[in-house]
Amino acid sequence: MIVKQPALIARVTGMADVITCVNFARDNGLPLSIRGGGHNIAGAALCEGGLMIDMSLRRAVRVDPQNRLVRTEGGAIWADVDHESQPFGMTVPSGIVSNTGVAGFTMGGGFGWTSRKCGYAADNLISVDIVTADGEPRHASETENADLFWAQRGGCGNFGAVTSFEFRAHRHGPQALCGMVVHPMARARDVARHFRQTTAEAPDELCCLLILRIAPAVPFLPKALHATPIAAIAACWTGDPAAGESAMRLLKTFGRPVADTITTKPFVAHQTMLDAGQPFGRRYYWKSDFFADLDDGLIDAMVEHAERITSPHSAVLLMQLGGAPARLNPKLNAVGFRTARYALNVQGAWESPQEDQRHISWAREYWAAIHPFSSGNAYVNFMTEDEGETRVRAAYGDEIYAKLREIKAKFDPDNLFHGAQNVPPR
Ligand SMILES: Cc1cc2nc3c(=O)[nH]c(=O)nc-3n(C[C@H](O)[C@H](O)[C@H](O)COP(=O)(O)OP(=O)(O)OC[C@H]3O[C@@H](n4cnc5c(N)ncnc54)[C@H](O)[C@@H]3O)c2cc1C
Repeated sequence: MIVKQPALIARVTGMADVITCVNFARDNGLPLSIRGGGHNIAGAALCEGGLMIDMSLRRAVRVDPQNRLVRTEGGAIWADVDHESQPFGMTVPSGIVSNTGVAGFTMGGGFGWTSRKCGYAADNLISVDIVTADGEPRHASETENADLFWAQRGGCGNFGAVTSFEFRAHRHGPQALCGMVVHPMARARDVARHFRQTTAEAPDELCCLLILRIAPAVPFLPKALHATPIAAIAACWTGDPAAGESAMRLLKTFGRPVADTITTKPFVAHQTMLDAGQPFGRRYYWKSDFFADLDDGLIDAMVEHAERITSPHSAVLLMQLGGAPARLNPKLNAVGFRTARYALNVQGAWESPQEDQRHISWAREYWAAIHPFSSGNAYVNFMTEDEGETRVRAAYGDEIYAKLREIKAKFDPDNLFHGAQNVPPR
């Protein structure tokens, strides 16, 4: 979907290379972009005719179990973090697909299975090493370059090239109670109402995700279900598995699921469960919104349009938010609308360019039907290329957006770093 060709790709091996690249791009008036995990749906890792700093050789992760810290380099993906931290029974809140980059994810906020209990990834960031537009290497934390650090946590990569991240880690795993219950799409309205009830009463430890799609041929689903439309609830308990059993029973006993994979298993198995459904190389088009409630009209619109799904690779994902992040001070960092209770993401996915119009239209029509029920805000990490400045501003709200523009003017007055979604200097 994204066709942009940098003139030069620099596969950096350390901070010195990054300083050279930033100075070179600035001094020669070249567009500059950075590739972390390469997952951004807007194709923000690429630039046309400029210099792309490719961080993908920089994926090392170091765990400090004594102090419950995890340090990653600028090109690490979440699978790298799990690989190193799970043997210690520790986790950093990550996303629901393990090959998403730590960098872009964290700088846009970042929520997943454990974030209702442990906060967003950005909330757990302790410090970064970053090269700003003037080519200066800086350390940013609560006590050093505090304004830059505030902007780094939510500001979408608009402030410099990050070479390392330091996170607070939480106790979780290596075994966890998690999995998915699956129902036929014919029961989707009831399943969605049950999702609403379960999530309304859930403790922070429980996180649920409603999925509407055509069942892929994955080994954890019975063959009879493959290629049939389904309504599934995936769930994860962040805490002692025994303590989560009664909460999970609500999901397991509702309406006799046609498949039930909820059990105690390695947390990494759950973290990678959805990877195969989102491979690199397909064509993707997303539309998303935040919701405060799931009223019946919204559920009807969601199911009606899911029944018209045009591609076996497309999906609708309704993620439960709220919990601990919603109780944090809204001014803590630049993450917008941390009180949102649900994020709905319409994920169009297909393989042939000839089919672009059909699947993009499905996603847009879906979004048009659900948007009237939304809280009107948006999530920067789910935005496609065509969202525009009004949506970006809506994603932050006026106060955070204005503060980001001020900090941008201080550290990057000529807008060298465009970020996943650009915040222009004031
Ligand atoms: C399949 C899939 C699943 C996802 N699941 C979730 C989810 O569960 N929860 C969630 O919150 N989000 C999710 N996302 C969204 C994801 O958080 C964003 O797409 C994010 O931008 C990806 O980060 P990345 O490093 O892989 O991106 P990239 O495409 O590499 O980069 C995105 C932007 O970040 C900046 N950037 C990257 N690396 C650096 C760096 N080292 N220094 C400075 N800037 C940098 C660049 O400006 C770039 O423009 C998902 C995305 C996909 C495609």
